[in-house]
Amino acid sequence: MHIFILTGAGISAESGLGTFRDAGTGLWARFDPMKLATPEAFQQRPAEVQAFYNWRRQNLLTASPNPAHLALARFGDALYRRSGRLTLVTQNIDDLHERAGSGDVLHMHGELLKARCLDCHAVTAWREDIATHSRCAACGHIGALRPHVVWFGETPLYLDLIAEWLPTADLFLAIGTSGAVYPAAGFVATARRHGVPTCEINLDPADNASLFDQAFYGPASDAVPAWCERILARLDASRAP
Ligand code: NAD
Ligand code: ZN
Repeated sequence: MHIFILTGAGISAESGLGTFRDAGTGLWARFDPMKLATPEAFQQRPAEVQAFYNWRRQNLLTASPNPAHLALARFGDALYRRSGRLTLVTQNIDDLHERAGSGDVLHMHGELLKARCLDCHAVTAWREDIATHSRCAACGHIGALRPHVVWFGETPLYLDLIAEWLPTADLFLAIGTSGAVYPAAGFVATARRHGVPTCEINLDPADNASLFDQAFYGPASDAVPAWCERILARLDASRAP
């Protein structure tokens, strides 16, 4: 059994990290993405863009994984023990899946705790603020570091692996994502085209909710552990002698 899971900001909401589009509280309700999350913004106002990501990085360091992240990490292990496989793709730039114990997480929108050098392209672990005088650990260049995140107008990461693995899955599950940002919002349609059953767990129906065969609405910290238990129980029942 190969299960392909896509997570979005909703899975980290109960860890205290803001989602993007939720009215009032979403990050983009308070900040203008075009002023902060584009290559052009970084070119024109680097200090302001760095300050936004420095703030989010420090915020992340005080957050902890919640029961949804923990359940997915246990679920990956449990599937593996049953000769199954979990592909975990996240749009989140936090490291809460990893801290919960998940390995091999594909961060298609990059990672907040990494910096990338515009000069030598090296990607290095980075937990401090990035400043205009920060030095690249790989090439020594000063002032060429940017957050290793994918901005609007840039190409997400791992799209080749995703294109290869999604059609081979036995089940596609989207968790806590509004289905508004492509290409991730298109994964459900790709899955359907290849006959892969689709399911969503969300607080509210996603923009593309009609494309899911099944949906569970509720906070991820409840709905995700319950879903994992149901799938494992179903798997075990189908394998019972
Ligand atoms: P989103 O904010 O658009 O949607 C969050 C979803 O989570 C909503 O469907 C909401 O109902 C749900 N949700 C909220 N609380 C929940 C809870 N407790 N349990 C379960 N679900 C909950 O976030 P998204 O779909 O992840 O956004 C798409 C992606 O677009 C983002 O992850 C981000 O990577 C990317 N993006 C990036 C930038 C950038 O700075 N590069 C800017 C905007 C969007
Ligand atoms: Zn460098």
